[in-house]
Amino acid sequence: MDCLFCSIAAGDIPATIVDSDDTSVAFLDIEPFQDGHTLVIPRKHVTSVLNDDGELARISPMVTKVARRLVDSLGASGVNIVSNAGEVAGQSVHHLHVHVVPRYDREPGINAIRSTMPRRPVEEVAAMVTGEPNRR
Ligand code: 5GP
Ligand code: ZN
Repeated sequence: MDCLFCSIAAGDIPATIVDSDDTSVAFLDIEPFQDGHTLVIPRKHVTSVLNDDGELARISPMVTKVARRLVDSLGASGVNIVSNAGEVAGQSVHHLHVHVVPRYDREPGINAIRSTMPRRPVEEVAAMVTGEPNRR
């Protein structure tokens, strides 16, 4: 099957991996809403929560772990957690994923989930989140 996120989970397409385990992979979003915007996916291909037999529940410990890690490593004050299901909801990649978006005091509120402010360089964010310097 030709699926971008299956390819990232398999390591065939590069991504900045934040964390992974037997059931889930967390990696930085390529077009982040905010610094550290991370996607958590199941290794198993499921198109969305509307066709899910339990993968969302199985990746939920990773969602929680990543949310805390982003807050701790980036100095965020909170997170938004969302999973878009169906194109009408804005889903563009049809492999179940949970967006974990760190939120910063400088730009509060759901309407400001997509930052319009200057950002840190992507490499700097990756190093802060992964703990590995010079990580892309
Ligand atoms: P959706 O719109 O389906 O809810 O979210 C898909 C997300 O995947 C978007 O936020 C988009 O920026 C991200 N994305 C798309 N292609 C890639 C890619 O090749 N690598 C990474 N890391 N993220 C991607
Ligand atoms: Zn897939």
